[in-house]
Amino acid sequence: MSISDTAPTAGRAATPAPAARRFLDEHDPPTPCLVVDVDTVVDRYRALAAAFPDTRVQYAVKANPEPAVLRALAREDAWFDVASPAEIDLCLEAGADGGRLSYGNTIKKPADIARAHAAGVREYTCEADGDLDNIAAHAPGAQVSARVLVEPPDSVTPFGRKFGCVPDRATALLLRAAELGLDPVGVSFHVGSQQLDTAAWDVAVEAAASVFAGTAAHGLHLRRLNVGGGIGASYRDTAPEPTAYASAIGEALARHFPDRAPELVLEPGRAIVAEAGVIRTEVVLVTRKDPADEHRWVYLDVGRYNGLAETEDEAIAYALEPVGDHDGASGPVIIAGPTCDGDDVLYQRTPYRLPESLRAGDRIDILAAGAYTASYSSVAFNGIPPLRTHCIHEGRPTSAD
Ligand SMILES: *Cc1c(COP(=O)(O)O)cnc(C)c1O
Repeated sequence: MSISDTAPTAGRAATPAPAARRFLDEHDPPTPCLVVDVDTVVDRYRALAAAFPDTRVQYAVKANPEPAVLRALAREDAWFDVASPAEIDLCLEAGADGGRLSYGNTIKKPADIARAHAAGVREYTCEADGDLDNIAAHAPGAQVSARVLVEPPDSVTPFGRKFGCVPDRATALLLRAAELGLDPVGVSFHVGSQQLDTAAWDVAVEAAASVFAGTAAHGLHLRRLNVGGGIGASYRDTAPEPTAYASAIGEALARHFPDRAPELVLEPGRAIVAEAGVIRTEVVLVTRKDPADEHRWVYLDVGRYNGLAETEDEAIAYALEPVGDHDGASGPVIIAGPTCDGDDVLYQRTPYRLPESLRAGDRIDILAAGAYTASYSSVAFNGIPPLRTHCIHEGRPTSAD
């Protein structure tokens, strides 16, 4: 990320989530809390579906598994990428059909596969023989995709080498899947979350195409390509629009699948929920550790362990917006969370400025905070409860909230 020293306090104006902030102003719920505007979630889903016609869009549940979010997306007929039996249960309770769930996690126990199969899940991603054997045993006849390890340009929060296997291994795995009576459908990958370089997909689509060619040489014709998540949200840095991702991915497909494009699956998490959420936090303490310091330390009631896990390594630079009148000068700050843990410092390298008039008790809104916040919150570190979420629809709490 390139954020200059003169970066403004607030991010771009594109993420104000006005309904969520109005709700916070009117109801003044205890802080910290996350407000998710489900109408914005639906808007973002529709914008992605429109940018990617003829593509199955499946929401990666881990980004925000709030029941109201899942219910709204199920009503849109979305598919869901699930990673555990608990996420499957949440989707079914939200009204999704088991046949619209895709088990994308390549790390799973035999019992997890059996439960998924019993719930009607028919599609699984794998990257290793052991998992493939388990799928054959506990989800007989299931559709199987192989996840390829891709090393595109780094995203803001990259996956590293944790997931996937090299294309030759993926080819062998899919050929074996056919021998085991499974239905080998295609290839999946993930180019890293918050991927701001749309060219990243070219490298990955090329790797996937080599698997399609590899199995075709043995008479096995794959049909489906899952291009993963990674679509960016706008924080302090602006992400490309969905249409920019769509054209880059379209060009990669034209280049590497010149004869016939496969069925496409897109698996966004962050891009659907991030900009729908606002965290309101209270300033607990403002201090200068040495009167000679230029920086003030600002301690908030939300931090690394109760919602802002993605500030690890200062990966995600959230846009901060002080609430109320702070029209005067601003100055440099280091921003930290409330716990007794030395790692609970949000930003000390990334330059942030906040108003000189900021005092304990003031509120700050953290914009575009709907993804990977509440779902990452610890249960009770230092006795601090997990981040409370309020979902709203047409400005009011959703009925089953
Ligand atoms: C997390 C995840 C996603 C969603 O990624 P985003 O970057 O949030 O879009 C999609 N697919 C899989 C397999 C994932 O693990």
